[in-house]
Amino acid sequence: MKGRSLLMIPGPTEFEPDVLAATGAPTVSHLAPSFVEAFAGALAAMRQVWLSPSGQPFVVAGSGTFAMELAVASLVEPGDRAVVASTGVFGDRYADLLARHGAEVRVVHAPVGEAVDLEQLEDAVRSTSARLFTVTHVDTSTGVRTPVSELGAIARRRGAICVVDGVCSVAGEEIRQDSWGLDVVLTASQKAIGVPPGLALLVAGPRAIERFEARRTPVRSYYGDWGKWLPVLRGYESGAPGYFGTPAINLVAALAVSLQRIVSEGMDARFRRHEILAGAFQAGVEALGLPQVPARPEWRAHTLSACHLPGGVSLSEFVRAVGESGVVIAGGLHPDLRDRTFRVGHMGSVRAGDVLATLGAVEAGLRAVGRPARPGAGVEAASRFLASVAVPSTLGAR
Ligand code: PMP
Repeated sequence: MKGRSLLMIPGPTEFEPDVLAATGAPTVSHLAPSFVEAFAGALAAMRQVWLSPSGQPFVVAGSGTFAMELAVASLVEPGDRAVVASTGVFGDRYADLLARHGAEVRVVHAPVGEAVDLEQLEDAVRSTSARLFTVTHVDTSTGVRTPVSELGAIARRRGAICVVDGVCSVAGEEIRQDSWGLDVVLTASQKAIGVPPGLALLVAGPRAIERFEARRTPVRSYYGDWGKWLPVLRGYESGAPGYFGTPAINLVAALAVSLQRIVSEGMDARFRRHEILAGAFQAGVEALGLPQVPARPEWRAHTLSACHLPGGVSLSEFVRAVGESGVVIAGGLHPDLRDRTFRVGHMGSVRAGDVLATLGAVEAGLRAVGRPARPGAGVEAASRFLASVAVPSTLGAR
């Protein structure tokens, strides 16, 4: 029996051996030419992955929550009005965070399982004269994806800066930062980017940098002040590294490796692979009789799935039983759904075999908790889906 399980939670995900090898390589000086080259390569590759040739990438040690803070701490000033579009836990977190930075926050809540209504969002931005608004692209607590391609247009119409929390979407879901006019798109290393937890990542577009440069008051966060990081990041890219805080050297080296893999897969192929594998998994759970949390098929994320358990089933028993088949999945996260739903991540290096194995394990889990489905129903539906859409090379892409 294998000594390790397949990790199918919505982050951290499974990481490639060459990425892990980079984290375990001897640590060099942050000024070593090999590190300067790796850091510069990572920053350049971020522009390709975010599809943002005009953007300024930031890489700072921290988790996704810090990426959220890094995105707004340098943009909001005390008393600024901000609108948060919330589809669940992470939108609510953004509202809290913005208030800490002195913003007056209006939250536009979507009902659980629904995407944010963009007209309602624009209305709130207009009626509050908000200077900034945030949207969670994929809400990891509900598996709902809110469309973000129109946000740049809303931001321009309303004179606001738009911030996309892409922690559960960047490098998995389609995002075209420049052509969609998204001002800030943030994520963290441990999800579809494919690097162990520890890096906050974002790309800021020209309007965001201009907004920062026009501030009237000092940034309240010291570590999250773009003014501290910009000269250092620009220095690394021009071959003249500087210092503000010690970079997470091994994680940045691993980031350079993982981003190169992503760039060589190609963004369109990568978006398509995630779409196909999500479609296969979601067809599988449907065939197992498990309803999904997103209320409409077009709101189902491609990076994770959130599903309801049959009534009366204990979540912890089910998750444990799935684990006994060698697949680790997650329980619910949203307070309204916590004990009644489970979540499966299918992003980053995921392949068709991983999705099929997970459906087999979910089926075994249902059997173990006394709610058996027809043997093979989930795997069969997913296989049919794959056969109907996929080109074989897409399925194995790593
Ligand atoms: N935003 C979203 C959409 C997330 O899914 C998460 C983490 N699951 C975060 C923010 C926070 O990231 P972290 O846990 O790395 O702080």
